[in-house]
Amino acid sequence: MPHDSFDPTAPHPRQTDFSFEVGTRLTNPDGSQALGRTGVIKTPHGEIKTPAFIAVGTKATVKAILPEAVAELGAQAVLANAYHLYLQPGSDLLDAAGGLGKFMNWSGPTFTDSGGFQVMSLGSGFKKVIDMNLVDQSGPDDAVAPGKERLANVDDDGVWFKSHLDGTKHRFSPEISMKVQHEIGADIMFAFDELTTLQNSRGYQVESLERTRLWAERCVREHFNLTDDRVGKEYQALFGVIQGAQYEDLRRKACQDLGAMAFDGFGIGGALEKENLGTIVGWCAEELPENKPRHLLGISEPDDIFTAIENGADTFDCVSPTRVARNSAFYTPHGRFNLSGSRYKRDFTPLAEGCECYTCQNYTRAYIQHMFKSKEILSHTLISIHNEHFVVKMVDDARQAIEDGTFHEMKADVMAKYYARKPDPQGLPALVTTA
Ligand SMILES: [Zn+2]
Repeated sequence: MPHDSFDPTAPHPRQTDFSFEVGTRLTNPDGSQALGRTGVIKTPHGEIKTPAFIAVGTKATVKAILPEAVAELGAQAVLANAYHLYLQPGSDLLDAAGGLGKFMNWSGPTFTDSGGFQVMSLGSGFKKVIDMNLVDQSGPDDAVAPGKERLANVDDDGVWFKSHLDGTKHRFSPEISMKVQHEIGADIMFAFDELTTLQNSRGYQVESLERTRLWAERCVREHFNLTDDRVGKEYQALFGVIQGAQYEDLRRKACQDLGAMAFDGFGIGGALEKENLGTIVGWCAEELPENKPRHLLGISEPDDIFTAIENGADTFDCVSPTRVARNSAFYTPHGRFNLSGSRYKRDFTPLAEGCECYTCQNYTRAYIQHMFKSKEILSHTLISIHNEHFVVKMVDDARQAIEDGTFHEMKADVMAKYYARKPDPQGLPALVTTA
């Protein structure tokens, strides 16, 4: 039986088309070796110097930014979403177009996530954000957001879910996710996993983790079959996804189980509380093979990024820079501010003094506020370019600081300024009100 003879730990000959090389290792302030490092990921569509911030392009577009501008602002790679592209326009269509990069006119490296997160988070009514605050270990086995109908049902073979677009019923399994991601054609794909929330019981986490382990083996097998079948296509790398919520023993076990399989790299997924992010990433970095890249799926803020880098994450993605831009929020070295405030009405300075992005080189806060207030969509484009550049540059600077041996000083300096919680010091003084 071919099924029984498959060994998920045996590498595929074409895996040599993808590589990761560790560069400089981060040292702790006391001189001991830390988990963070620099490195280079090599894909058929170019290199990614790590640590790297990966721009999110959910539906094969980084919202409101032309791909030329995405490249110009410094982003090295784009991550799209298999669930969204499967539903619309269909992964077969992307295959016919020559794959994700060609379809969206992006020549650099691309990622797709497996769709598991969206199938289960949209399906359980939690929308895009899994609740990171409620930790109740005695909680129900089956967590559904209050007042929401459950749209996804997990069994050992896969998941039935209803489309959030039109309510039609669909099936995802490890094999289907692999087929969909091969058709989409990104350089880096993720294995199909079950997403749990912090509200699930520990018993359910244990059961779910075993399901994810078995699904990981099926993903490797199907991925290798598709790699053999799809002759003439460039090699697509597959990352295993580490679940285990907030439990150290479960996270470490997942890393040992999946770390032994023939994955090209690993994603650290699932629900985790912000304050545990560094600890959990650290457990994974200690257990996972040193010579394979680690991606942290879906983080949000500058402090999370530094924590992730320090604890051994090589790449990470985040929707915040473009999402907050559409609400006119912009990043500066002194924190995040909202451009709709009256103090910016006649402020003819750039979004951030000294910023080298296209927006800051050419436009003022006053103009962009005018675009936003008059509901001109150009405001989305201009603020998104600046915000993406800001985060990409912050990570690039962190990479340089690891190489220079100045990471800890740089982090302390950047964080102290960013989280000072003082009014924006740039431009016009804030309006002073007297009691
Ligand atoms: Zn800028």
